[in-house]
Amino acid sequence: MAAEKLPSQKESFSDWYNQLVLAAELADYAPVRGCMVVRPYGWALWENLQEALDQRFKATGHVNAAFPLFIPMSFLEKEKEHVEGFSPELAVVTVGGGEKLEEPWVVRPTSETIIGYMYAKWIQSYRDLPVLINQWGNVVRWEMRTKLFLRTLEFYWQEGHTAHATKEEAEEETLRMLDVYTDFAITEAAVPVIPGRKSESEKFSGAIDSFSIEAMMGDTRALQAGTSHFLGQNFARAFDIQYLDHNNKLQHVWTTSWGLSTRFIGAIIMTHGDDQGLILPPRVAPIQAVLIPIYRNDQEKSLVMPVVARIVDELAGIRLELDNREEVRPGFKFNEWELKGVPLRIEIGPKDVAQGSVALARRDKPGKEGRKFVSQENLAAQIRDLMGDIQMALYQKAVSFREENIHEPATYDELKQIVTHGWAYAWWCGDPECEQGVKTDTKATTRCIPLDGVKGEGVCIYCGKPAADKVHFARAY
Ligand SMILES: [Zn+2]
Repeated sequence: MAAEKLPSQKESFSDWYNQLVLAAELADYAPVRGCMVVRPYGWALWENLQEALDQRFKATGHVNAAFPLFIPMSFLEKEKEHVEGFSPELAVVTVGGGEKLEEPWVVRPTSETIIGYMYAKWIQSYRDLPVLINQWGNVVRWEMRTKLFLRTLEFYWQEGHTAHATKEEAEEETLRMLDVYTDFAITEAAVPVIPGRKSESEKFSGAIDSFSIEAMMGDTRALQAGTSHFLGQNFARAFDIQYLDHNNKLQHVWTTSWGLSTRFIGAIIMTHGDDQGLILPPRVAPIQAVLIPIYRNDQEKSLVMPVVARIVDELAGIRLELDNREEVRPGFKFNEWELKGVPLRIEIGPKDVAQGSVALARRDKPGKEGRKFVSQENLAAQIRDLMGDIQMALYQKAVSFREENIHEPATYDELKQIVTHGWAYAWWCGDPECEQGVKTDTKATTRCIPLDGVKGEGVCIYCGKPAADKVHFARAY
């Protein structure tokens, strides 16, 4: 682990992020341009996110399956907008086994097409519907400017693909999964998100409507943390996915797709982290508490270690790490676990043994404020309560930060000011030219029209024409 200090967030949020990801051993640069290696600590975090999502998918009736990594090029070409959107980002295989392929294959950038092809085969009648399948896997998009977790050529994710008999059912599914993502982000990761609809220009290639959850990072930039798309009958027509309805009439199905990726790890880092390093929410932290025995000599050690062993047993069920390394001092260990964002530190020294106490130190409240001595009795229950408090405090802090940094501009000049250091929530007429104008002037894009946002009769912040919706403008990752 790197011993040198991280740059502060104020000095450079970007350098802070890049160095933290490496120093905390979440990920490393791969010897392939733009690709990442997710290290065990980062993967353990991803596994916890996966588990929390997977439970929610299954609770809403979905099942998992696996589809091929390669997709014939002609599949992508069947949906015009889809291929136009993805063409610049495709990795294409032209040679296999030493021979030129008859038809190029793409390494999947997303799987609507190959899954659509299979659905056409599997779906015959209304009795086969709905089909509710999710896939955990990796995809490749040829990105030019990359950043660990946030934008890499290859990344890990889940993609849900569903087929329904009616438009209403598919629309309902699209919003249901947006809700699942919202609940996941808030409950598990303590990341406050705004669920909303994307503009035409920001939507998924081939979708009728796209929805996203948008989160504010510690530098006030926005991060799209998950998306859910209503695909209408676009892919059903392209792949001829038809079913016989109750009247024995052939109908095209209605489909949806939704995805959340390892990018979400970036959201957690940039929502909660501070100058000392990561701060991981207890519910998803790979290590929830680290136990550090403190002694200066063998005599103290012989007093402390039996109590440590007993406490380790009592805390089974909590993701606990015992740091009993002898080659480094406690202060070094404190810094290292702070850097890695472990929510809670437990210290036990000879005085604690004598007094039947332990010291508990919260990662989210550095220094004396977050450190207290508690009785060794009922320690597991006390720690569980404290972890619940930490989880809640992280969420509240992130909500407050977001609220402080969302402003409602009265004029376009105000908007230009605001988006240099926050989000601007403003009326927009819906015209892509106004959206483009804001982007050209400020680099801020429309993030989403919140589902529970303000509706009514307003005046577009850019052109002054009537506007029915307010949208969030922000610079985004
Ligand atoms: Zn306008």
